[in-house]
Amino acid sequence: MKIIITKACMGDRNCNDLCPEVFEYNEDELKSIVKFDEIPGQYKDVVRKAADECGADAIEIEDDK
Ligand code: SF4
Repeated sequence: MKIIITKACMGDRNCNDLCPEVFEYNEDELKSIVKFDEIPGQYKDVVRKAADECGADAIEIEDDK
């Protein structure tokens, strides 16, 4: 699984709260970033939940394998 966070991120940090192992808030970019190029298997479900819940629709799943 590969994901990106687009510029639409409004920085409410919901994804960071859901899964700090994957999402990190970047103070310089004022948006969240993804810590992994390839999402480890154990985080896939919570990443899908974060994408569903993101109020800005900023978490895009590019490859769901
Ligand atoms: S939940 Fe969405 S809008 Fe909020 S910090 Fe994460 S990517 Fe950004």
